[in-house]
Amino acid sequence: MARVSFSYNAPVSQTLFDRAAAVTPGGVNSPVRAFRAVGGTPRFMVSGTGPYLTDADGREYVDLVCSWGPMILGHSHPEVIAAVQEAVARGTSFGTPGEGEVALAEEIVARVEPVEQVRLVSSGTEATMSAIRLARGFTGRAKVIKFAGCYHGHVDALLASAGSGVATLGLPDTPGVTGAQAGDTIVVPYNDLEAVRAAFAAHAGQVACVITEASPGNMGVVPPADGFNQGLADLCRENGALYISDEVMTGFRTSRAGWFGVDGVRPDLMTFGKVMGGGFPAAAFGGRADVMAHLAPAGPVYQAGTLSGNPVATAAGLAQLRLLDDAAYEKVNAVSAELRGLVSAALGKEGVAHTVQNASNMFSVFFTGEPVRNYDDAKAQESFRFTAFFHSMLSQGVYLPPSAFESWFVSTAHDERAVERIAAALPAAARAAAEATEVSA
Ligand code: PLP
Repeated sequence: MARVSFSYNAPVSQTLFDRAAAVTPGGVNSPVRAFRAVGGTPRFMVSGTGPYLTDADGREYVDLVCSWGPMILGHSHPEVIAAVQEAVARGTSFGTPGEGEVALAEEIVARVEPVEQVRLVSSGTEATMSAIRLARGFTGRAKVIKFAGCYHGHVDALLASAGSGVATLGLPDTPGVTGAQAGDTIVVPYNDLEAVRAAFAAHAGQVACVITEASPGNMGVVPPADGFNQGLADLCRENGALYISDEVMTGFRTSRAGWFGVDGVRPDLMTFGKVMGGGFPAAAFGGRADVMAHLAPAGPVYQAGTLSGNPVATAAGLAQLRLLDDAAYEKVNAVSAELRGLVSAALGKEGVAHTVQNASNMFSVFFTGEPVRNYDDAKAQESFRFTAFFHSMLSQGVYLPPSAFESWFVSTAHDERAVERIAAALPAAARAAAEATEVSA
């Protein structure tokens, strides 16, 4: 922990947080929202417009979280809102097939070449859970190889050495996951092909799939080393296992075809979420048609959902994807590059050891002078400096992810004014990071 003074306050958020804590564990519906890693009161947001969020105390923030990725066009984009309003007016759920889900599936298939067939679900967790089940059903094998620091949602079998909130809170493997559920999960260090090769050798003929974040963002942004993803694809093919690329975070964000559009490595199955839902609960998994054909009702592997392909969610997602043309990605990439330069310059000026890493427009700042190639490297950073940096930015109206282990996200709405506000906040935040001292918790 860092010694940080919370000299600014948020009385309405505090009151709401107290009410929330009485009726909801920890006062939040997803752990990383709770500010546990950085301390202080989580801000309860009441509205969002473009690059800005407004909290219950009436304070405005430049938002560098973007709902953890989905809001790539900024908040309340008029065309997305109009599509949602038009869909809502026709009804909110039918429990039957509808044209919107076909159109969204067609858009995904058109954008991401390895996806021949796709199934819509409601969260990234469901997408990875279903993809793993399908891989096991298809191969008739049980074991799954995953990487330390990669987060694939709160799927029982995938929580071992997970990133995101599990990393933020420093949790060991979570209680409630039985040995049987986790026993078929093999965890290896990220960016270490030799470890993957050894895992395959140790469990010959038993591995159903390797699942990896296409470019990890849940231990902070740690891109795959050159050749790593291709090496995974090759090892999977040699060993009769499926290669699952989790693009819940990178999909439709890092390019119009996600990380596949950046490195061109062909997975057997892919998972999507976040951007494709336009701020609504919509996610998907898809890939090779011969594998997808094993899903019910075409095949025997069961998978279902009352609200899967929900008409309002699919309308929002489709509207957002249709607005994401090459110019939109150029804009997001340019804002990201500008911010990376500004943050690095500010920290450099104060002599703070740091490494800014990016995967296309996703980026994060590690408080270490060393490159971060895996989860152990990420954990070796001076997180207490991030805490001081975070609170200084927050007090100056810039909303960062409340964790040193998360990606920062920007949108097409982050214009010059928003960037100037961030730039103006950076010198004091860098100074706070420089002056931060570690204190025992
Ligand atoms: N996979 C990745 C790479 C993610 O980043 C996340 C969420 O952050 C998930 C899966 C889980 O998605 P959801 O939170 O929608 O269940």
